[in-house]
Amino acid sequence: ENFEVTCTYVDTALGQGAVVVFHDITELTQAEQMRRDFVANVSHELRTPLTALIGFIETLLGPAKDDEAVRARFLGIMANEAGRMERLVRDLLSLSQVEGEARVRPTERVEILGLMESVRNALAPLARDADVELEITAEDGPVEVKGDSDQLRQVLTNLVENAIKYGRAGKRVEMTLSAVAQMSELQGQGVAVTVRDHGAGIDEIHIPRLTERFYRVDSHRSREMGGTGLGLAIVKHIVNRHRGRMRISSVLGEGTSIRIVLPLG
Ligand code: ADP
Repeated sequence: ENFEVTCTYVDTALGQGAVVVFHDITELTQAEQMRRDFVANVSHELRTPLTALIGFIETLLGPAKDDEAVRARFLGIMANEAGRMERLVRDLLSLSQVEGEARVRPTERVEILGLMESVRNALAPLARDADVELEITAEDGPVEVKGDSDQLRQVLTNLVENAIKYGRAGKRVEMTLSAVAQMSELQGQGVAVTVRDHGAGIDEIHIPRLTERFYRVDSHRSREMGGTGLGLAIVKHIVNRHRGRMRISSVLGEGTSIRIVLPLG
């Protein structure tokens, strides 16, 4: 059914007939379908907090106008919903930025151990609130890759944020750096960063789909934790643009480990 058909009647010296051309549009339809799904998802994700906001505003303008306690509580919820919309827009912008060019311009040299330490410091308050200890192990000393430091920071931030969000209170989240991973014959040596948590883990049937935009194992949990469903899609694109590899492994009940390998250079 994925054919576009054109039919032309011909009248030549050899006789009359019809030329029917079948044009395979499978790929086109798939791309179009993906685009439509994406727009539908974005609209849905934006509409949910927006509907809540409108509801609360109407209540505050009407029935709860003079109720001080209700007003304070509603404003708190509204700030939450607005924050959710803001995160979604921020992640959409990041995604469109990293989806754009095929390859990052590898102008900067990025020192990975320093980046890991900086991400740990930035996420320390989140970790404290979740009662998770962020630990860095460096099997090798400082090591540099060529790339975009803002984007690589985002990769580590998204992975560590997830590990904190979906990890277990009282347990650690470990970031490990190892500079000796072999990537492939062509790419030679790479730098491996692994982020591991000791949370509930992910059933293996979900793993291949985790980097799809808006794919969530448990949407309720993800939203409750402030997730947009775009974090791992952004990670995948950035890693690809750095000619890197990403591997997700998880054991239900034991935790998840995500390993990124970037070409050394
Ligand atoms: P979200 O914003 O929902 O966290 P992500 O793209 O970062 O979106 O992750 C997609 C889904 O993958 C999450 O909704 C969650 O179900 C699952 N996930 C990601 N990281 C982990 C982890 N460390 N442990 C368990 N599940 C995870």
